[in-house]
Amino acid sequence: MSPYWTPTVNRLTPYVPGEQRSGVDIVKLNTNENPYPPSPEVLKAIRAVQGDQIRRYPDPESTELRHTLARYHDLDSSQVFVGNGSDEVLALAFLAFFTDTKPLQYPAISYSFYPVYCQLYGIESNTVALESDFSLDLDRFETDAGPIIFPNPNAPTARAVSVSEIKKLLEQQQQSVVVVDEAYVDFAGQSVVPLVKHYPNLLVSQTFSKGRSLAGMRLGVAFGDDQLIEGLQRVKNSFNSYPVDVYAQAAGKASMNDEAYFQRTVQTILQTRENTVHELQQRGFQVLPSSANFVFAKAPDNTAASLFEKLNRCGILVRYWSQPHLRDWLRISIGTPGDMQSLMSCIDA
Ligand code: PMP
Repeated sequence: MSPYWTPTVNRLTPYVPGEQRSGVDIVKLNTNENPYPPSPEVLKAIRAVQGDQIRRYPDPESTELRHTLARYHDLDSSQVFVGNGSDEVLALAFLAFFTDTKPLQYPAISYSFYPVYCQLYGIESNTVALESDFSLDLDRFETDAGPIIFPNPNAPTARAVSVSEIKKLLEQQQQSVVVVDEAYVDFAGQSVVPLVKHYPNLLVSQTFSKGRSLAGMRLGVAFGDDQLIEGLQRVKNSFNSYPVDVYAQAAGKASMNDEAYFQRTVQTILQTRENTVHELQQRGFQVLPSSANFVFAKAPDNTAASLFEKLNRCGILVRYWSQPHLRDWLRISIGTPGDMQSLMSCIDA
């Protein structure tokens, strides 16, 4: 608290990121990072960056990267926006589309950064309850009552809604911007990016942090109708013209151009996820159907809090929230088979 802070800053409850502890014996299953390194082509592209490129400002429009992304998704570059992680892309989207409008609607259990942006920007919001099985019924969003945002797959539940359900929502909500946060879509195979050609109110955000192993590079994307993208550009250019540095632009492009590596690592993670669900179920956990690179698992006999502590003592970091509805559950990122073996050994110990 400082007398120099504005009332808004005084009121903020900032987002708390997962712990970034490191060490040889730490098994990090708490921030949904990819357990595998990025493609060797990405590392090559990063090493190839020349001093002259660093001396200069980066391309403010990330032209080549946007072009590469557009080609990959069969869109026009004018339908692609890139930013410094999807957190930044979302922050700009909140400013561009959710301020000075009707209250924002989002699921009561979802990405905990949404209420933080609302607080920061003074955005009114209404939350929509999940069903008792933690699924999201899109019919619960009120029609034309205000813009909408939800993660698909949702976090921390890992549950996904189908493309056809989102299509129905877009048909119903033509007056409102709908943002689908697809941070985990690489593990779900159900992207609504192709729909941006047909729905001018749809913005889809994605990230290079999960399926593409580039969390440390900070690279996020949004796809949408060119007018929505222009809205994001206007806000970006009123805030920071150069959010994506030369390394991130080069890495992103190389990653998009190595589809085989991407598919291989994602498939490995999906296989490990299946094994992990099985192993947890055998130990009495209830595991929600997962479409992400993490699982949301209810520990047997109300042991989630003590298990979280026990795992911590084993050097295994997972995510735990003590609030109602979540306090019996752990969110566990999918690591390598060896990471998951360490998890099981600690649970069994
Ligand atoms: N959306 C959701 C649902 C997330 O879980 C995350 C990762 N914490 C993000 C967006 C942001 O990811 P990044 O900024 O690394 O792109």
